[in-house]
Amino acid sequence: MSEKSVEKHERVFAAPDKDQAGRRTLIGHSLDELKDILQDYQIPNFRAKQVWHWMYHRGVKTFDEMANLPKDMRARLTENFTIGRPEVVTEQKSTDGTMKWLLKMDDGQMVEAVFIPEDTRGTLCVSSQVGCTLTCKFCHTGTQKLVRNLGAHEILQQVMHARDVLKEWAGDKAENDKRDFSNIVLMGMGEPLYNYQNIAKALKICMDENGLSISKRRITLSTSGVVPMIEKCGEELNVNLAISLHASDDELRSDIMPINKKYPLAELMQACRNYPLDAKRRITFEYVMLAGVNDSDEQARDLITLIGDIPAKVNIIPFNPWPGVEYECSSRNRIHAFANILKNAGMDAPIRKTRGEDILAACGQLKSASKRDKVTSK
Ligand code: SAH
Ligand code: SF4
Repeated sequence: MSEKSVEKHERVFAAPDKDQAGRRTLIGHSLDELKDILQDYQIPNFRAKQVWHWMYHRGVKTFDEMANLPKDMRARLTENFTIGRPEVVTEQKSTDGTMKWLLKMDDGQMVEAVFIPEDTRGTLCVSSQVGCTLTCKFCHTGTQKLVRNLGAHEILQQVMHARDVLKEWAGDKAENDKRDFSNIVLMGMGEPLYNYQNIAKALKICMDENGLSISKRRITLSTSGVVPMIEKCGEELNVNLAISLHASDDELRSDIMPINKKYPLAELMQACRNYPLDAKRRITFEYVMLAGVNDSDEQARDLITLIGDIPAKVNIIPFNPWPGVEYECSSRNRIHAFANILKNAGMDAPIRKTRGEDILAACGQLKSASKRDKVTSK
């Protein structure tokens, strides 16, 4: 798929930009776009800047809270626009503190977002699509057909919702017990590089110091390997890049991750070599441990050969099972033996701790109940 066909794919699965009452969202537009939109309603540019500040910096959910705007202007905004949050269908909390929200968008479609607290930081895992067009065999999301892309506003709303909850939760807690997220990972449902335009818009607002002000170093985009968009992502966003690798030869990778037939390993590795990295940054390769499939000593050595010339870190992920899946997780001994081969070759190869397992919030376990109606491609 070329860059052009990725764009076509984005049009076919586009997100609606109005709610059921025909009101347009103001979230997810650049400041210049926001100024243009509001000008049509006789709202001057300096007011657009105030609206922007209230939305992202102050995090208000209604126009009525925008205290320095004239009352009639607030009423006009309320009549024509929204800035709200998705409806929270369920909120689950794991015994390890991980939180998972099932969020319902304006058109009823649902996605999941997960917050994973750690000692010194917290990671927010955000979805990019409802379902996924790809069908990686080990991934629960892959069993749910793609329903549609998420709009830039819906990606931001997951972040803004998590911020609301964590702020409220921290409330009157002691300073050292406060929770917030320090990092965002695009590792929820969907393939972010098949929804690049919306992801890019949302991330630019996340990174804008007058927006959500989250540094690009604290944002990681994970992709199954949509090669033509990796370059664009590097140029435009330059966030941290994670590649779902999971196999070091084309035959196995094409079997467990069909996208490999379109973009085989040689092309993917070249895209990684070209990704702009400054001194301290590396590419993360994710490697899920599937018993008897990709976890032998020889496969570890092949992995070293494959990525040896790329500044890299390998995240070894114990496979998280889900109902009906054909794989099992490698044994603890096997996982450690595999990791040790990488470490002995001088690689950074941490074994990821599984989090939120009891609420199916771990990697690859997300799947919403949203179903795809008939989608006609144009
Ligand atoms: N579509 C993107 C991002 C979402 S998946 C991608 O594939 O990179 C986030 C990570 O979880 C990916 O590395 C994915 O391969 C991994 N994953 C999927 N299913 C898993 C499972 N059952 N157990 C552990 N990791 C899984
Ligand atoms: Fe889609 Fe990523 Fe799951 Fe593959 S691993 S099916 S690309 S969400």
